[in-house]
Amino acid sequence: MKYYDKLIFELSQKGRVGYSLPVNRFPSAPELPEELRRGTSPELPEVSEVDVVRHYTNLSQMNFGVDTGFYPLGSCTMKYNPKINEEVAALPGFNGLHPLMPAGLVKGALKVYQEMDKALSAITGMAAFTFAPCAGAHGELTGLMIMRQYHMNRGDLKRTKVIVPDSAHGTNPASAAVCGLEVVEVKSLENGRINVEALQALLDDTVAGIMMTNPNTLGLFETQIKEIAERVHAVGGLLYYDGANMNPLMGVVRPGDMGFDIMHLNLHKTFSTPHGGGGPGSGPVGVAAHLVDCLPKIQVSGFHGNFGVILRAYAYILMLGKQNLKKVGQYSVLSANYIKECLKDAYKLPIEGVCKHEFVFDGLVNDGGHDDVHGATTLDVAKRLLDFGFHAPTIYFPLLFHQALMIEPTETESKETIDAFIDVMHKIAAEAAEDPAILQNAPHNAPISRPDETQAARNPILKYKDAR
Ligand SMILES: *Cc1c(COP(=O)(O)O)cnc(C)c1O
Repeated sequence: MKYYDKLIFELSQKGRVGYSLPVNRFPSAPELPEELRRGTSPELPEVSEVDVVRHYTNLSQMNFGVDTGFYPLGSCTMKYNPKINEEVAALPGFNGLHPLMPAGLVKGALKVYQEMDKALSAITGMAAFTFAPCAGAHGELTGLMIMRQYHMNRGDLKRTKVIVPDSAHGTNPASAAVCGLEVVEVKSLENGRINVEALQALLDDTVAGIMMTNPNTLGLFETQIKEIAERVHAVGGLLYYDGANMNPLMGVVRPGDMGFDIMHLNLHKTFSTPHGGGGPGSGPVGVAAHLVDCLPKIQVSGFHGNFGVILRAYAYILMLGKQNLKKVGQYSVLSANYIKECLKDAYKLPIEGVCKHEFVFDGLVNDGGHDDVHGATTLDVAKRLLDFGFHAPTIYFPLLFHQALMIEPTETESKETIDAFIDVMHKIAAEAAEDPAILQNAPHNAPISRPDETQAARNPILKYKDAR
């Protein structure tokens, strides 16, 4: 333990201050009535300025972020977030707005919403967007409520089922269940795509719609999407597109052209807002022309969503322009395929072929038998990566493979960074074969090593116990 690992409360020394105030020139205020006064003083830390600066600077250095290193966390699009976005979002004219200000005083902000509606509609092939939802999952719920409303408006009340592929992001079935719809799973083929025959067997007039991600969670493009759209539409269902990860498609393919009727985007992933740790996010929902009437009229969130995130996305879109948005898609796909091809000698690639912005390995080729306690697992690889200054990829998701290791490099990494990552992954694979204990005991130099994740989730210790 380093001396500065102490809590700020433990650093406290009675009477020490980190500020100076001018002498009070005013008569003292009347005393508060006795019953409103606290009996004891609050136990606030009494520290100097340098204590405060070191405390927070050291805390920040125990963290890992996109600004500290490569962060190939699949399905999360941890791209670099250009700093100009922050400057735009901090402009006083935007930053000082209040949602209850009269429309005449917030014309600039309203224009941003209008322009974003146009830009996102052009990028996705939808007709209009609502910006109220504050996250991807919130967008899904809003989109499914739109789907349900569409069927109810036509008096078609028997449509209670939503079809979700087995490769789907966990939020998809969860959102459908929260919306009161029944989730029906459709299986994938060996090649990772939806089994269209199995889908056909599920289609009837009780189906409200299907939720899909394309490229799907394995990073694979659903090549039969046109046929899937025709079949779902033929029985009166709608197609919902989970556009959390629009990265690979931007400027190349539009969900609207693939036949999707409703979709959400994660502005905090694809359109570069720092995310993770629960926020802030923005999950605008777009609909095709025949569903514009079903966009929410009452709010699904306080006011108009997370305006700061929408502003960042607006700055990002304007900064890149049409040509460069297309390059985002192309480079993110190139980076992923490059890593996949360079590493498939050492990591098991369950599905060969060109991927989009991400792909999934199924553990090490030479894992010493990963069911065996002496072998090295995907968790061990992920933990060992931390020793080399890389964030771990997504692990054990999607659920289709036992040792899933899901890598998404994004378009913002240089070839040098990607090559350094590939070298380290090869080195780790060699260690796994020669001396798996190095991996099993990793990380060797992180602030904490291997917490009991179940206990940490079920019984988190959220209160400081004063040991003094
Ligand atoms: C991240 C993600 C979501 C959920 O987005 P949140 O903003 O975390 O709610 C949904 N679907 C996919 C495919 C995602 O990657």
